[in-house]
Amino acid sequence: MKLISVVVPCYNEQEVLPMFYEEITKVSDGMKEEHPELEFEYLFINDGSKDRTLEIFRELAKKDKRVRYISFSRNFGKESGIYAGLKNSKGDYVVVMDADLQHPPAFLPEMYNYVKDGEYDCATTRRVSRTGESKIRSFFARLFYKIMNKISDTEIVDGAQDFRFMTRQMVDAILEMSECNRFSKGIFSWVGFKVKYMPYENVERLAGTTSWSFWGLFKYSLEGIMAFSTFPLAVAIFLGILSLMLSVIILIAGIFVSAVSDIKYRWFISVASTFATSGVQLCCTGILGQYMGKMYREVKKRPIYIAGETDEDFRSKIGE
Ligand code: UDP
Ligand code: MG
Repeated sequence: MKLISVVVPCYNEQEVLPMFYEEITKVSDGMKEEHPELEFEYLFINDGSKDRTLEIFRELAKKDKRVRYISFSRNFGKESGIYAGLKNSKGDYVVVMDADLQHPPAFLPEMYNYVKDGEYDCATTRRVSRTGESKIRSFFARLFYKIMNKISDTEIVDGAQDFRFMTRQMVDAILEMSECNRFSKGIFSWVGFKVKYMPYENVERLAGTTSWSFWGLFKYSLEGIMAFSTFPLAVAIFLGILSLMLSVIILIAGIFVSAVSDIKYRWFISVASTFATSGVQLCCTGILGQYMGKMYREVKKRPIYIAGETDEDFRSKIGE
């Protein structure tokens, strides 16, 4: 028997939930027909919804014993929902998906095929279009991926999504990252493993409204940059060096300008010394920043390495 856990974070999703449930059960029944060894559990997370989401969970749990749920005491955000779902899932495979059917359950059979023989550890969708999204939002989204991939060691594929079909091994690796400021796109990528990206056209939310405002997304992207890069801490050093170089340029330029005009050389000295002082200060701040960056990495207590396979896995696979 192989258990697939479907983790669904929900915030005010009363309108789509019945449709989502119908769709996911249809797809999983189809998969069970083709692979009789499969079992399913649906693990819904109520992220402090203010509508009837929790009541719908209860109704579903009453009529279907595959349905499990966790209801948060308040809204903790989607990232916490994903974490709670992964932590409490029991499956050999775990799927993370949105409730609004923007992550079509119809992908699951194909995703399972990629993952089941160990060819891949994770199958995920990648948006190749951003239809139904405003031009400004797309522009900033692209800009975010550009900046992120420049300044961070963790590569994040443009259009990557939180719709993931993962092996237990990958889920356990993700859970080893116990940081509280969670940026899933970065975490999924940081843990590595073989990932199959399946291109697809963006679909619009079936009902209800998105809970992301532009401002919310902006804050979230800063969160991502801060969680996966210490580059901003190095900015002070660059500015400091720039300021020091400027003071030297002013001193040299002053020699020529004061020779051909009646501006006194001491004026150049006083301007240059201002730049020199702030340059030294900025450099020192930057050095502090470097140590802080190292401390930041320590505090997060991320695993030092993650093994993809060992001889034990290999032996149990070939049945030795
Ligand atoms: N969500 C959540 N907590 C929140 C916000 C959203 O659990 O605070 C869930 C939401 O119910 C949905 C998924 O996260 O299942 C994606 O949210 P949404 O569709 O609003 O985001 P978008 O698709 O616009 O990025
Ligand atoms: Mg959505």
